[in-house]
Amino acid sequence: MNKKRDFLRTIVADDLASGKYKEVVTRFPPEPNGFPHIGHAKSIALNFGIARDFGGRCHLRMDDTNPTTEDTKYAKAIEDAVHWLGFEWDGEVRHTSDYFHQLYEYAIKLIKMGKAYVDSLSEEEIREYRGTVTEPGRRSKYADRSVEENLDLFKRMKEGEFADGEHVLRAKIDMSAANMKMRDPLLYRIRHAHHFRAGDEWSIYPMYDFAHPLSDYIEGVTHSICTLEFENNRELYDWVIDALELKPPRPYQYEFARLNINYTVMSKRKLLELVKGGYVNGWDDPRLPTIAGYRRRGYTPESILNFCEQIGVAKANSVVDVAQLEFAIRDDLNKKAPRVMCVQDPLKVTIVNYKGEEEIEAAYYPADVAKEGSRKMPFGKEIYIDRADFAETPPKGYYRLTPTQPVRLKHAYIIKYEDAIKDENGNIIEIKAKYFPDSRSGSDTSGIKVKSAIQWVEANHAKKAELRLYDRLFRVENPQGIEDLNPDSLQIIKDALVEPAVIKEKAYERFQFERMGYFYKEPVDYSDEHPVFNKIVGLKDSWTKKSKQKQPEKKPRSKKATQPRNEQKEGKVAPMSKEQQELFKRYTKEQGLNSEVANTLARDAKLAAFYEEALKEEGSAPMSIANLVTNEVARELKNKEIIELAYTPKQIAKLAKLIDNEIISTKIAKDVFEQMSKSGENPQEIVKSRGLEQISDPNVINSIIQDVIEKNPKNVQKYQEGNQKLFGFFVGQVLKASGGKANPKIVNELIKEALK
Ligand code: ATP
Ligand code: MG
Repeated sequence: MNKKRDFLRTIVADDLASGKYKEVVTRFPPEPNGFPHIGHAKSIALNFGIARDFGGRCHLRMDDTNPTTEDTKYAKAIEDAVHWLGFEWDGEVRHTSDYFHQLYEYAIKLIKMGKAYVDSLSEEEIREYRGTVTEPGRRSKYADRSVEENLDLFKRMKEGEFADGEHVLRAKIDMSAANMKMRDPLLYRIRHAHHFRAGDEWSIYPMYDFAHPLSDYIEGVTHSICTLEFENNRELYDWVIDALELKPPRPYQYEFARLNINYTVMSKRKLLELVKGGYVNGWDDPRLPTIAGYRRRGYTPESILNFCEQIGVAKANSVVDVAQLEFAIRDDLNKKAPRVMCVQDPLKVTIVNYKGEEEIEAAYYPADVAKEGSRKMPFGKEIYIDRADFAETPPKGYYRLTPTQPVRLKHAYIIKYEDAIKDENGNIIEIKAKYFPDSRSGSDTSGIKVKSAIQWVEANHAKKAELRLYDRLFRVENPQGIEDLNPDSLQIIKDALVEPAVIKEKAYERFQFERMGYFYKEPVDYSDEHPVFNKIVGLKDSWTKKSKQKQPEKKPRSKKATQPRNEQKEGKVAPMSKEQQELFKRYTKEQGLNSEVANTLARDAKLAAFYEEALKEEGSAPMSIANLVTNEVARELKNKEIIELAYTPKQIAKLAKLIDNEIISTKIAKDVFEQMSKSGENPQEIVKSRGLEQISDPNVINSIIQDVIEKNPKNVQKYQEGNQKLFGFFVGQVLKASGGKANPKIVNELIKEALK
């Protein structure tokens, strides 16, 4: 079993071990009165996941006891969501309404046992008689009706003789019970309503607390898992089953904490209000936390499931930071999405000394992603860059093109500014530039130093594209309703340009637009003639930074501020102090750190102190230490002091050394770090005791490769017949088979050899 044992899995495992049940049976019981949301995904992952992990079954049961709010459209959305997440229910879809006859018989049985009665108090009176938490209730005078009278009335209720609200069926339990749910709870009420499945057969409908335990029992469910709000219902759940003296095995109810996420609402009622009110474009609006919304936006099922696993299952309610969900999708797409170029706000650049045209072979993935693949990028005299990547009078710390600062066109050449053409209002409409012929990426002998590489597209081959940029639907962490909506949650860019491969490439639907974020071919509106892309998520968490700068409430954000690239240095970030600038200079100039990392360190006194301390350890390269500090340690230092950490700066330096000496891969280093932050052990010892040393021995790797080849003859054939995309598959399989320990560089080379 690959799942961590949460408390529910522990219960299930114990119940199977003790022989209480032969097989585990769970169910996912949504009410089809709205589209399922990410909270439901948690419940789906849990119920179906437990059944899968323990070799049992999970039922999908539409909890359709409320005739007026239900709809087949919603039932369909629920089925789609379960399938999309990769699960299959046992048998047919079930419905509580399938059991209406059995439930009715159970009610008759209770009446005959003297455990239920028809009450004729008004709704108002029933409420009044119930008492309060501090005062006991009073029993209705109708509670003394004879069994015969109750049977007669209940039958006539069913037959539609009475108006809504005239009578109800109640359990006879205890009007002074401490648990209010036990004060003669309602079992049936009259509802003259058409049911979307049962039609007009019924004039009475069972209440949840009666229908649920019995539906579970009828289906042979063993573990009935629900959210914490139902804790008080458990006593009634047990009462219904006990009172009817049903023969074992019987189900038991267990509660877990429901998922809440900040900056969003998560109840179907509130979601319905947004949809009905036209505040969003339907249930699958990519800004909604519905599964259909995430799906349309471009989230992958894997990312949602990983998220559900990461947040775990607990018994205490909490609010999960939406950044964690965004992390999960970023993490998934980082491994999958090819990197391509898009220019959001095109500015023409004419390269005056360039003649002809050429095609540049550009890799889809950066070196640290173990996937192969590339595309051809046309290059020519006229290109477009992003308007934000040129500044005539640059702010401090601006690293892109300026009149005095050259810049690299990613995958291509370094260019330098010559002139700017302006319109009558003084707006720049074109840049004239020169390129350096000997500066081409990969064979650069120019010796020219640049501070960054920017995206670009060739003017004649670029395709126009529409971008839909989504921001959080609500402005505040704990939104109450529509008054908290973020007015800038959708921004549409009509005239972006993408490189031709993005349109031609049919094997991918999701891309990383370099420096902008991850994008998805809009599943409904996309066509090659009118390409539309949804922004799935940005490249880093821009929101935390934004909101930490204490903005005034409801501040109208300028167009600029919502542009993803301004997550970068300039924007509204405070200028560095003198000391910070000194540090920054030292880090970049003397220690060769890249500006991104240096910037993070210089601005954060705690991080800088940690880093400086780690540098004192002999023989470790500043860059690897800095990477560990700004990525891993920084996460922990957000809410801790240095002395509270389980490890010391020296130990981090040692971890860096293990990476530098290629003893472990950066991927394994993350695992080692996790262990260090728990136990404070030395990295060398963790690596040794767990056998994590990177495998670079070609003999060992080759034997893994042979294994993988033998197991996948079909893919080998396809690859050899020309399906180059499968290369990544083989690399992935080999890395996986080695437990992530094989040296990716060597794996790449050896696979190329082996598959020739
Ligand atoms: P909502 O309050 O959003 O309308 P609900 O609980 O009424 O949700 P149901 O359709 O009755 O929705 O729920 C189906 C299943 O999903 C139930 O078992 C419920 O416990 C679970 N569920 C609903 N919301 C969440 C959540 N936020 N986190 C975890 N599980 C949830
Ligand atoms: Mg509900």
